[in-house]
Amino acid sequence: MKKRSPIVINIPHSSTFIPEEEKKYFVSERLEHEILVMTDHYCDDLYDAGYEMIRFPVSRLVCDFERFRDDSMESMSAKGMGACYVSCSDQSPLRQLSDTHREEILRKYYDTYHRSLELAVEERLGQYGECLIIDGHSFYETPLPYEYDQDPDRPDICIGTDDYHTPVQLADLMCGFFEKKGYSVAVNAPFAGTMVPMKYYRCDKRVRSVMIELNRRLYMNRQSEIHIGYDRVKADIRELIDNALNLHRCLYGTHNRA
Ligand SMILES: [Zn+2]
Repeated sequence: MKKRSPIVINIPHSSTFIPEEEKKYFVSERLEHEILVMTDHYCDDLYDAGYEMIRFPVSRLVCDFERFRDDSMESMSAKGMGACYVSCSDQSPLRQLSDTHREEILRKYYDTYHRSLELAVEERLGQYGECLIIDGHSFYETPLPYEYDQDPDRPDICIGTDDYHTPVQLADLMCGFFEKKGYSVAVNAPFAGTMVPMKYYRCDKRVRSVMIELNRRLYMNRQSEIHIGYDRVKADIRELIDNALNLHRCLYGTHNRA
């Protein structure tokens, strides 16, 4: 049973699933390796703090929900990694993709998932007058070739914010929480920003959002096997999300309108 609250947890990159009908389009000989390095492994479990969670059902190699739909708006499309990737993280060819096929994928996965996130937000706005999106990710412990930030000194945790949608107090709470627990923390580095559905983007302050990115070394090895740190990270995230909800209630006086 999920806790009823203004929180929605968004998990876009944890799936390793490539549907059978999509497999034939992949040309990379290192597909398994690509899945290994690009997936936010276990994030659907690590961020499961008992709140409503929306998890993208297929691998980001099929479709990346967090990119702009339109390649002309998406900076990563210059690297062949817009909403539908055609390049691998090392910039070698990933798959063949016609414009028609791309559009099919976008309709089937991208639009459907955006609608479910939008609905989850809408439901919370209706019930609580507020919504807090927690955008849950993890990242590779060393910079991958496609990434813009190539600084090898990566923090344990990265908090991603948006000037319009992330309350300063919330970002401060998260940084303070992790630092007190002994993690190194950076804001908007190596990754910046946080997910907000387009319908509310920069036009509805009631929709608040913050991104958490975990360095994978905290919970798994390079073969995606979890290690002894896993349970600690999971427990800390649960405690953090509970704290974030309390702060959100204090700041915005959330109450159940049902
Ligand atoms: Zn991610």
